[in-house]
Amino acid sequence: MADRKHVYAFAGGTADGGKDQKLLLGGKGANLAEMSRLGIPVPPGFTITTEVCTFFQQHQGAYPEGLESEVEEQLGRLERQMGRRFGDPGDPLLVSVRSGAPYSMPGMMDTILNLGLNDEILEQAVAAGGDARFLRDCYRRLLTMYGDVVLGAPHERFERELTAARERQGVATDYELSAASLGQVVDSFRQVLAEHGTPFPQDPREQLWGAVAAVFGSWDNRRAREYRRLHGLRDDLGTAVNVQVMVYGNRGDDCATGVAFTRNPATGEKRLYGEYLVNAQGEDVVAGLRTPRDIEPPAGGRGLGDDFPQAHRQLLEVAETLEQHYREMQDVEFTIEHGRLFMLQTRAGKRTGPAAVRIAVDMADEGLIGHEEALQRVEPMHLVQMLAPGFDPDEKRRAVEGGRLLGKGLPAGPGAAAGRVALTAERAAEMAREGPVLLVREETSPEDIVGMHASQGIVTARGGMTSHAAVVARGLGKPCVVGADALHIDHRQGVVRVGELRLREGDEMSLDGTTGEVIAGRLAPHQSQVMRQLLHGEEAGDSRPTQVFREILEWADRVRRLRVRANADTPEDARVARAFGAEGIGLCRTEHMFFAEDRISWVRQMILASSAQERQRALDHLLPVQQADFEGIFAAMAGLPVTVRLLDPPLHEFLPREPKAIAQLAEQMGVPSERVAEKVAALHETNPMLGHRGCRLGLTAPEIYLMQVEAIARAACARKLAGDDVRPEIMHPLVGTEEEISTLRKMTVDTLERVERETGVEVPILVGTMIEVPRACFVAHRIAEHADFFSFGTNDLTQMAYGYSRDDVGRFLPQYLEQGILPFDPFASIDPDGVGELVEMATRRGREARANLKIGICGEHGGDADSVAFFERVGLDYVSCSPYRVAVARLAAARCLLGQTEAVAV
Ligand code: PEP
Ligand code: MG
Repeated sequence: MADRKHVYAFAGGTADGGKDQKLLLGGKGANLAEMSRLGIPVPPGFTITTEVCTFFQQHQGAYPEGLESEVEEQLGRLERQMGRRFGDPGDPLLVSVRSGAPYSMPGMMDTILNLGLNDEILEQAVAAGGDARFLRDCYRRLLTMYGDVVLGAPHERFERELTAARERQGVATDYELSAASLGQVVDSFRQVLAEHGTPFPQDPREQLWGAVAAVFGSWDNRRAREYRRLHGLRDDLGTAVNVQVMVYGNRGDDCATGVAFTRNPATGEKRLYGEYLVNAQGEDVVAGLRTPRDIEPPAGGRGLGDDFPQAHRQLLEVAETLEQHYREMQDVEFTIEHGRLFMLQTRAGKRTGPAAVRIAVDMADEGLIGHEEALQRVEPMHLVQMLAPGFDPDEKRRAVEGGRLLGKGLPAGPGAAAGRVALTAERAAEMAREGPVLLVREETSPEDIVGMHASQGIVTARGGMTSHAAVVARGLGKPCVVGADALHIDHRQGVVRVGELRLREGDEMSLDGTTGEVIAGRLAPHQSQVMRQLLHGEEAGDSRPTQVFREILEWADRVRRLRVRANADTPEDARVARAFGAEGIGLCRTEHMFFAEDRISWVRQMILASSAQERQRALDHLLPVQQADFEGIFAAMAGLPVTVRLLDPPLHEFLPREPKAIAQLAEQMGVPSERVAEKVAALHETNPMLGHRGCRLGLTAPEIYLMQVEAIARAACARKLAGDDVRPEIMHPLVGTEEEISTLRKMTVDTLERVERETGVEVPILVGTMIEVPRACFVAHRIAEHADFFSFGTNDLTQMAYGYSRDDVGRFLPQYLEQGILPFDPFASIDPDGVGELVEMATRRGREARANLKIGICGEHGGDADSVAFFERVGLDYVSCSPYRVAVARLAAARCLLGQTEAVAV
């Protein structure tokens, strides 16, 4: 490794590296180099490569040969450029040391600022008339960060000393501490370090190497490993170290520090969006200890343009240059030193789902990217977030007027959530097993990630839009409110106090991450605006989100091959499905129609009938209502195929369990209660999922299927006569043998022909089967002889392939996932090795026997992006999923045909 270059320089206008060297220079280093090349004002510095980190990890903290001299050479260059020397007591060069991994890992790695200061420099500088307040402020920050990161001193000890200093002086913020107070703070920090056992090293070079080692070491700390595990990132990449000349945002009121997004990360609107703090250093904004100002405030407010007109203009220019260059929304950090702007970082900005979609579509409209790239940048989860529920405005207003508004913070993650309050991440994870939880914290840190995952939403009392909680929540797609400073979290008492009010852990709370409101009690979530506009054509509010939602899906439709249908049981579901762009119904579960109030009693009488005559009487009642159901669905789906599945669940599921309901039914039927109770008991099976259901029922009690087929055929005739283009498909569930399907087909076709003769109306109706029993996959070629189409029921197929009952999988699956025995839930995402192999085999065998066999899938997996990609590879004709997942499936079916891009949007 001796002959490799280990250190890459960057400075105004030039750089050794560039943006495509993220693996070597880390994201931060690569982009600092790129910005330098573009002539954007970046404080000069150098990057020690990730390869050095890997070497350091593999060689117990040793460095590759030649590193030291390369670093010395670069320090010399910086000294010459700045006209200052590192460690010079008169006018020292100070640097920052920052980590920068190839992938953004917010809050995971560490930063040290003002490195190069020591006691002597401080004394001399103050004695020489330097700005004592500023110098001491810098030094105390260095002592805390170095103490924290390198020497492992407990952070609370520094916090306690600072609090004591504020109290002594009678001020509320650190920013107001006087030079004298800061002098005391510095003394007390030195004391803290001495008591902790390691004094602060006075030699700046020792500081530098200590900091470099700490950054490399932090790559492997628990938090970092946990973060990588949760985000599926590689462990072997290492981090780079960036050493950069310090610029100061805390050098007076003509200085500031801030963060900005080139577009709004919550909505995607094309407008610089961010926050800054006057007279502060970078960490102050991110830590959320002071509430920053908006760069571009709503009309009337004071913003960066008022405080720093020139730097503001320049920042807008830089933002434009970066967007044009990267063709992506950027998240930047900047510092203004005596009115002069310096850029400290740029990277692709994290964003909410709605923002991701809007930015992708807008950038394509602006000509920055093509349609395919726009599709690569939108993930299925983003569409899901756009459809995420909010609270009913009236219900919320009543809650607020009723005094239940606990506070208002910043709307950091859109969407609404309600649940029981948990005050620590551990409790959140525990409590989440019994229902929805909200994590309520002072502020969050990387240790809280598991609890944040487990929660429905997150509330913090402190912090801004770029605080840890805000960034991570947006990443997870969770509703989040930060900086709700009316909330006081009292861990000792285990309560959240808001004025006189107290909420205990376990009490209900609601949050609106779109408005920032935190409300006591549980509010019910309601449909999103995009959803209302799509489904009901509602016109109120901004229509752009709905427009971009539609547009991106239209682009997806041009790319995808797989068709997308919906699982819909009612005309209303069918309308929703159509509004989302479904190209048909892939599964209409007829049993759901049986539960409606006006028919369940006839269904029960049909099941319990003791004579053919009695049964026929019940079926005669059911036929017209079933027919009306189908007519409604066929009308809603005119011009598109509708696959109706005949009755599937075991009959006992329709029967009453409560003695009162049994008595009522007995009365209706005119038989004694005991007889009904006996029959109910007899029909109850021990393992209904593998029992007398599906086509087994259709073959042993054929009147039911015959009634359903007749209802479908008559409904089709009626709609055809009414002028609709109807395309029904009749589907038999749970078929496992050739004889089952051949018998069912015959029964079905006979009935269809009879109805055709009786009505004189000809409607072509396909007859096919579900493939959801493993045996059916093996004999798919024989089954295909009698089926016009196959539709994989991957719910049952997964159940039977694994031997996990769908009824009790919840008892062990969570533990299996936690222990890594299963890498993911196979009921949510298709198992490609086992269940997927069955699907693949059945598809091949089926098509060998019948080349034009139409094949789809209608299990839950139809709405899962990874599964959709799998079904595309296998070559199915369509996927069918819940109406609300249709958008996801359309997008996923297109994206899986395009190459992968790095996921920045979250
Ligand atoms: C299936 O088994 O995948 C399926 C769609 O049918 P159901 O969920 O109704 O059993
Ligand atoms: Mg099934």
